[in-house]
Amino acid sequence: MAEGAETFAFQAEISQLMSLIINTFYSNKEVFLRELISNASDALDKVRYQSLTDPSVLESEKELYIRITPDRENKILELRDTGIGMTKADLVNNLGTIAKSGTKAFMEALSSGADISMIGQFGVGFYAAYLVADKVEVITKHNDDEQYIWESAAGGSFTITRDTVNEPIGRGSIIRLHMKEDQLEYLEEKTIKDIVKKHSEFIGYPIQLVVEKEVEKEVEDEEAIEEKKEDDEEKPKIEEVEDEEESKTEKKKKTIKEKTKETEELNKTKPLWTRNPDDITNEEYAAFYKSLTNDWEEHLSVKHFSVEGQLEFRAILFVPKRAPFDLFETKKKRNNIKLYVRRVFIMDDCDELIPEWLNFVKGIVDSEDLPLNISREMLQQNKILKVIRKNLVKKCIEMFTEISEDKENFTKFYEAFGKNLKLGIHEDATNRNKLAELLRYHSTKSGDEMTSLKDYVTRMPEKQKNIYYITGESRAGVENSPFLEVLKKKGFEVLYMVDPIDEYCVQQLKEFDGKKLMSATKEGLELEEDEDEKKKIEEQKAEFEPLTKQLKEILGDKVEKVVISNRIVNSPCVLVTGQYGWSANMERIMKAQALRDSSMSAYMASKKTLELNPEHSIVKALKTKVDEDKNDKTVKDLTFLLFETALLASGFSLEDPSGFASRIHRMVKLGLSIDEEDSAPADEDEGLPPLEEATAESKMEEVD
Ligand code: ADP
Ligand code: MG
Repeated sequence: MAEGAETFAFQAEISQLMSLIINTFYSNKEVFLRELISNASDALDKVRYQSLTDPSVLESEKELYIRITPDRENKILELRDTGIGMTKADLVNNLGTIAKSGTKAFMEALSSGADISMIGQFGVGFYAAYLVADKVEVITKHNDDEQYIWESAAGGSFTITRDTVNEPIGRGSIIRLHMKEDQLEYLEEKTIKDIVKKHSEFIGYPIQLVVEKEVEKEVEDEEAIEEKKEDDEEKPKIEEVEDEEESKTEKKKKTIKEKTKETEELNKTKPLWTRNPDDITNEEYAAFYKSLTNDWEEHLSVKHFSVEGQLEFRAILFVPKRAPFDLFETKKKRNNIKLYVRRVFIMDDCDELIPEWLNFVKGIVDSEDLPLNISREMLQQNKILKVIRKNLVKKCIEMFTEISEDKENFTKFYEAFGKNLKLGIHEDATNRNKLAELLRYHSTKSGDEMTSLKDYVTRMPEKQKNIYYITGESRAGVENSPFLEVLKKKGFEVLYMVDPIDEYCVQQLKEFDGKKLMSATKEGLELEEDEDEKKKIEEQKAEFEPLTKQLKEILGDKVEKVVISNRIVNSPCVLVTGQYGWSANMERIMKAQALRDSSMSAYMASKKTLELNPEHSIVKALKTKVDEDKNDKTVKDLTFLLFETALLASGFSLEDPSGFASRIHRMVKLGLSIDEEDSAPADEDEGLPPLEEATAESKMEEVD
């Protein structure tokens, strides 16, 4: 160990990941170079961004570049950048001790068959160095600190030492890879060139490769050669050249071969977005996308455009094929849209450029109008940026609409980013209607496919005025809901909204194509009855009034009201919620968010209406019972049972599960003809009269 070296233990998961990288066979090892170049480029971005407000930061090293130096003799590959460098604290934190959520996620992905090349997406790309190296040194110099060496041969620990052995590097980092014996091919010029071309062509800084060149030199005569030899004892390699004609002339001419080192720039392409979209192939877009995002797959869709006029900018936007593993991890800064000003990179994560709900869209924006030295504070107020943002949103929606023309692609897209679209509907009033066209749902009529609202509308029977939906936990949970009975009977299609975010989305959407979106589980359901039906229900309301009054009395403030309705066909009753209150599903979602203010819940969740089906035998029999004797002892117990089963069938949870259980047990006893007297006194808890055996039994028969 070097003198003055401090030893640190890798965070456990990082250590695990490193041994996995070192010990497992992976075929795609070349990605290590892409990852290191990408880190170098990030580091250069950072220092360039700093320099916009403080040019003096560049004094430690003016030129911004990445340089790759293979040293075949010593089996070392070096990657130098003149980026921001790392302080000692940076080294400790960024290269080993601070846990990252991506570490575990990546190992899990690997064990379920993910490719090693995905590493960059999980934020642990640096460790890809251990695919090809058994020891890595990082020599680094940050403007605010001394030059340090970080070193590790894996094995759970790394060291950090003040650098007193290497030359001062000014600013930036050198990643020095001590290559494994079987990975020496990565020291070959051709291999390196190919990899850079393949993975890093669009890096915005020059990538130089230090190449060895043999330069031929012709020397006129012996003396000159001798002179040269004295000048530079070791360098030139002299070969006698057999040249017959020359030798005939007696004039001794010799050619010497000199080995020199030169740098070659590997990425000379001009920025893709400055080119004409018609001249760009999909392969070029794909390569650009991959270098921009570290994605291992191609993009799903691309939009390349420019805006001219009062304000000028160019942009390329991409939709990836999948959602990243942490799409909805809040607070995470992600590099989605890179901001450039007149070809100069400004920053990665500019929140003002694109709204949160579009956080999966990747790309770049290059503005002609913004000042180069724009600061984050200025960005928040900036009018130009607001206009750019509006345009980007518009173009994104255009792009999604284009994707929707290809069913297979759109299915993929919707699976990955459907939630984002719904979030967009919730948040973006201006584009709500356009986005609503992209929604897809399963429904009572859609079978295995999902339907758009547009297609739903084309299937609406003439007398149907509204679009019906039901919200719930899962498709299986809502498919047989009692709320669907009457709508199915009438031939009205019902959309299944089973994503928690649907509840939020539909509250904002309210209507589509001039048609109201109507919840099947809430009050105010319009069923387009004809005059006869309306008359009938009015009559039934009057007829059943004593029953509804009595039930309301028994249930007290458990329900807002008890009414007769024609919403259900096969079930005796359901519980509906107020039009503006929470649905049962929303209540479930809210209860799951444990830290919410409960006073809000009490208010929003309180309005339930018990709707009775006047055609149902249970309801009819109950009516008879109440008509005969409103204070019949069994009515109270039966009412509670009906209410509680309605809670369950309507998607709510029980307030008093044990009370419900004991009522059910009494029913079971009745079913088994167990005499109450013989059994243990089980009913003290409720203070309710036991069910009268005879009546209850006859009731059961009536029901069946
Ligand atoms: P990511 O690049 O996704 O953050 P990496 O594992 O590739 O993850 O890199 C980890 C961190 O190490 C980087 O975020 C950066 O802070 C630091 N780092 C790596 N390489 C360099 C470099 N060449 N210059 C400065 N910092 C670097
Ligand atoms: Mg990286």
